[in-house]
Amino acid sequence: MAFINENYLKLKAGYLFPEIGRRVREFAAAYPDKDIIRMGIGDVTQPLTPTILKAFHDGVEELGNKNTFKGYGPEQGYDFLREAIALNDYQQRGVEISADEIFVSDGSKCDTGNIQEIFGDKNIIAICDPVYPVYADTTVMSGKTGECQSNGYFDNIVYMPCNEANGFIPELPVTRPDLIFLCFPNNPTGTVATRAILKTWVDYAIANKSIILYDAAYEAYITDDSIPHSIFEIEGARNVAIEFRSFSKTAGFTGTRCAFTVIPNELFAYDEQGNQVAVKPLWMRRHTTKFNGVSYPVQKAAAAIYSDEGKKEIKGLIRYYLENARLIRESLTEAGYTVFGGINAPYVWVKTKNNLTSWEFFDKLLNETNVVGTPGSGFGPSGEGYFRFSAFADRDKVIKAMERIKNISY
Ligand SMILES: *Cc1c(COP(=O)(O)O)cnc(C)c1O
Repeated sequence: MAFINENYLKLKAGYLFPEIGRRVREFAAAYPDKDIIRMGIGDVTQPLTPTILKAFHDGVEELGNKNTFKGYGPEQGYDFLREAIALNDYQQRGVEISADEIFVSDGSKCDTGNIQEIFGDKNIIAICDPVYPVYADTTVMSGKTGECQSNGYFDNIVYMPCNEANGFIPELPVTRPDLIFLCFPNNPTGTVATRAILKTWVDYAIANKSIILYDAAYEAYITDDSIPHSIFEIEGARNVAIEFRSFSKTAGFTGTRCAFTVIPNELFAYDEQGNQVAVKPLWMRRHTTKFNGVSYPVQKAAAAIYSDEGKKEIKGLIRYYLENARLIRESLTEAGYTVFGGINAPYVWVKTKNNLTSWEFFDKLLNETNVVGTPGSGFGPSGEGYFRFSAFADRDKVIKAMERIKNISY
């Protein structure tokens, strides 16, 4: 008899995006001539830029030539990419990270989920509420939680509510967690953490022998020079943090697939006897055992992001989305909404009017303006009464959507 991993049965059915899809499909079927504008899902809309595309093509050509053909590459990524990352993303910003601490992968979704595997079942995980759903679901899959309660919280996860009162920055938890997921700039709230805030977290992790799992998928959207791009800009972080970065939102790689995880040589966790064990070799073992590397042309394309032209081009992409975010922020503010985020992030987090629930606002918006966004409650109970607008959309659609939202009646 084959037995299943019963932790999977604890998971709640993927509810948010399927439910959005269902409501939009029903609406479209009932009103086929309505022009629906989708600003819900966090996926980029602009194509790969010329320098990156050329490197991608060149990589493919090399594979078709006997003299330059490549088979399996190093599982951790080619040196040319790991070195470009270490130099451009870290060393040139004054951050001590070397190429051998970088693991190239096919996505931060996989990495933030898979990282659980090298840590024991007894770890208590802390996550923000609202949150990117991957952290909680993979914690459940890995068997570190109890059942899901009626409020959507799983037993044995430490939830850190993020709300208007705390500026959407989690407070230090009362129950001591072992692993702490943090994501800045944040999805879904679009907020960022200052150096002082990150320092508080690093100090807390040092004092509690915890490890911070830092998701920096949106670091390229930081426009304010005083905001750290990396947790490793904070003193002491090399002893207590792992960082996840992705080219998905930085360079439009959501379909191309390339990301990386940074694990410093000085990061240690503990065995049952309390002995220190280095974390990097465990991840190395996992990565090289279960993963065979990102395809060569994709890594060539990713490395081209760090060329002078590549840098200019992706800055242009990011400016485009940030201009969308500005338009969304300003239009909604003018229309009398309270908005957060959208300055150093591609997401605008909006408080609904008249105390509408997130789903009530979703339906009103869909029916009256034919605009689709994401109900905040889908990211966790503390997201109730909020709504996420994504700046990953075409400019003309953003303008049209904002025009329509101005005219909503209450
Ligand atoms: C989009 C996103 C990622 C990136 O995931 P990939 O698998 O690299 O595409 C990571 N974290 C968050 C919070 C995201 O929104």
